[in-house]
Parts: sequence; C-alpha cells; structure tokens
Amino acid sequence: MLPTSHAPETFDYLIVGAGFAGCVLAERLASQLGLRVLLIDRRDHLGGNAYDCTDAAGVLVHRYGPHIFHTNAQKVVDYLSQFTRWRPYQHRVLADVQGQQLPMPINLTTINRLYGLSLDSAGAAAFLAARATALPELRSSRDVVVSQVGEELYRTFFEGYTRKQWGRDATELDKSVTARVPTRTDADDRYFQDRFQCMPLEGYTRMFERMVDHPNIRFLPDTDHAELGGTVRWRHLVYTGPVDEFFGYCFGPLPYRSLRFEHRTLDQEWLQPVAVVNYPAPEVPYTRITEYKHLTGQRHPRTSITHEYPTDQGDPYYPIPAPENAALYERYAQLAEQTPGVTFTGRLGTYRYYNMDQVVAQSLALFARIAQTAPAASGV
Ligand code: FAD
Ligand code: UDP
Repeated sequence: MLPTSHAPETFDYLIVGAGFAGCVLAERLASQLGLRVLLIDRRDHLGGNAYDCTDAAGVLVHRYGPHIFHTNAQKVVDYLSQFTRWRPYQHRVLADVQGQQLPMPINLTTINRLYGLSLDSAGAAAFLAARATALPELRSSRDVVVSQVGEELYRTFFEGYTRKQWGRDATELDKSVTARVPTRTDADDRYFQDRFQCMPLEGYTRMFERMVDHPNIRFLPDTDHAELGGTVRWRHLVYTGPVDEFFGYCFGPLPYRSLRFEHRTLDQEWLQPVAVVNYPAPEVPYTRITEYKHLTGQRHPRTSITHEYPTDQGDPYYPIPAPENAALYERYAQLAEQTPGVTFTGRLGTYRYYNMDQVVAQSLALFARIAQTAPAASGV
C-alpha cells in the first residue's frame, strides 16, 4: 500500500510494468546503483506475459500462453542464472495437417510423410528447389515462405495459420514474421537452434520473485499508472506498457493482435506427443494447443492444456510488424524522444515483436546507458 496522506513518498525510479523489461531494470537499478525503485503493474502479479502459476489441479501452467526460453546471448543467460536454475528443454512442435501431425518447421520428415516419399537430405533440397518460387525481392512474410518451399507447402502450413494469428494475409506482414520459422532438409525437428534452450527450473514467476526481492524495490500489483495520482513522486519514469496508450493515442491506436486463452485440465495423463501442436487449417478456430507438462517436466496424473484463439479484442500481446504500423510507431517514438524524464522500453514500449531474451538484452543495454551517467543514489 502507498501512503494516502502526509507527504508523498519519493523514489528514484517509477517503473511501469513488471514483465521482463521492468523487472530486469528494477533489479539492476536497485542492486547495482543503490537506487530506490517503485515497480507497478496493473495485473495482480509479477512477470508480465511470462507469468506462470499452479492451476486448480496443481499443474504449473503459463497464463498467457507457452513461453520457451531460447537464446544465443551468453550475457542474458548469465544474468538470469543469478535468479534461477534451469531445466534443459528442446522445444518440438507438430503441425496438424491433412490428418497427420508433422514436424514444424518443415523438415525432411515433414516432406517424406506428407508426400509418402523416402528422400534423403539432398533429395529433399532438390524437391524444395523444384517447387520454390523465384522472386527478385522478398517483400512480405508470404514471399519468404514461397521462395523457400513453394505455393503448396505455403498454403498447407502458413497461409491459414498466419491469417488466423494476425487477422491479415501474410502479404501484409513484414518478412521478419515468418522468417522466424526456418525450413530444413535434415531431420532436425527442434523448433529452435539457439545455443541455450531451457526452462526456469521452478518456473518464471519464482525467478521474477527472486529478481525483485531487494530492499530498494517496492512492487505494487493491481496498480495502473493512470491511477497512481499524487501519492508518490519519482525522479525518472520507465514505461514498459503500450507507448500509444501513454500518449493518449494522440496519433491513433497502434494495432496489436490479442489472444483469448482457453485453459483446461483433462482427466488423463497426456493429450499430445509434444508441448505444442499447431493447427494451420482455416476452419479450426484456434492456432495451437499447448500441453504444459512437456515444458516443465512436471509429473502429474492429469494434464493441463491451453487453446489459443487470436482476436483483435483484449490485452495487446503482439505488435503487428507491417510498414504502416512502423511508420505510426515512428511518430510515437519521436514524441517519446521529446518527452523528458520518461524512457520507453520492452515489447509494448518500443512496439517490437521481441522474444524474452531480446527484452532482457534491451533492459540490460538501457541499464548500461543509465549507469554511465547515473548520479549517486539520492538517499531518498
Ligand atoms: P510484458 O510481459 O507484456 O509486460 C508488460 C507489463 O506492463 C504487463 O504486465 C502489463 O500489465 C503492464 N502494464 C502495461 N501498461 C500498464 C499501465 N499503464 N500501468 C501498469 N502496468 C501496465 N518469448 C520467448 O522468448 N519465447 C516464447 O516462447 C514466447 N512465447 C510467447 C507466447 C505468447 C502467447 C506471447 C504473447 C508472447 C510470447 N513471447 C515469447 C514473448 C514474451 O512474452 C515477451 O518478449 C516478454 O514477455 C516481453 O516482456 P515485457 O516486459 O516487454 O512485456
Ligand atoms: N507460422 C505459421 N505456421 C506455423 C508456425 C508459424 O504460419 O505452424 C507463422 C505465423 O505467421 C506465426 C509466425 O510464423 O505468427 C511466427 O511463428 P512463431 O512460432 O515464432 O510465433 P509466436 O511463437 O511468436 O506466436
């Protein structure tokens, strides 16, 4: 609770949003510079979208969809390892197409099973080369895929999934979106090839709790920046919420894609062979089903799953990478530059389709800039 009368309490930093962006920065400012930080979130918990918790059946689930940690950045791993031990985990995804569940990203096994072939890697490479559409320039998310695998595989695995996920055609999305998913001609069926692929051993929330467990950090859940009023003062504000909301949507709203999560516990030990099964078919209303025990290694006689239904309504989960949105964001970014005493960071604060490790790296870089010019702790 904050004081409601007397003199307002003063902090060096107010950080809005207690996801990766906010927690990393709060931890660094408090532990390395001795600064006093007030960290707030309008949700009732730490961790932002990476929050996990035990559901009514006792299964550890991710409230905002599956979060798999993967990175090539040693410094990000070293930093987070101060607050968690890790469970090695290699993510595998199957796509439910034409009555089969096939490895995604498309690989040698996907091609052989879909077409009833027994190609080797060289054969699969030739198979794809014969189907790939030659394009002078890759402009969109559709171009990226058809230039690698051709129209038919694009339609089977990408077209419907992308339309559902983003509410628009892949031709209207930056190429960076589908470029996240590679194509392989070997039998490697891992979703990621990063050097580090692991899950926090006791979950993300436990890791966040350790990060902010510092006498200089006060965390207030259920607290919206807009409702903070005059109860506190701060010298600097770091905002990790949506940048357009901060500025009252003065240039119009930035488009975000949201999700409706349908969480369920089943009276059976397992539902599916891997953590995530994707459903690209347009007639299936959800994009994917996640079964958490594969991610966490938990043993339990029942199993908890989540269906994801993309929607335009609800929390802003995904900035939508497209040229017109980047142009609109640029106007907000310029306004942010001209706003003294406020720094914007994180996936929503900088309108970037960032993974967790990128957000951690962004906050560590921001901290390094602050530390270079930091005055001594105010002693407030
Ligand atoms: P967030 O986690 O969104 O945190 C921002 C916080 O700010 C929120 O808690 C919000 O409540 C709070 N807030 C906003 N405005 C206000 C306000 N006005 N007042 C108070 N509080 C406010 N990344 C991976 O690396 N691997 C994955 O497997 C992966 N899977 C994902 C699956 C889904 C469904 C989604 C949506 C994202 C996934 N990500 C994944 C991305 C990952 O969630 C983000 O990179 C990361 O959580 C971003 O952290 P953040 O702190 O920038 O934002
Ligand atoms: N994608 C697809 N089919 C799939 C998997 C991914 O079309 O089976 C496309 C889709 O546009 C998706 C993008 O590739 O949004 C990036 O996929 P990723 O799994 O990285 O998405 P995220 O985990 O961030 O939702």
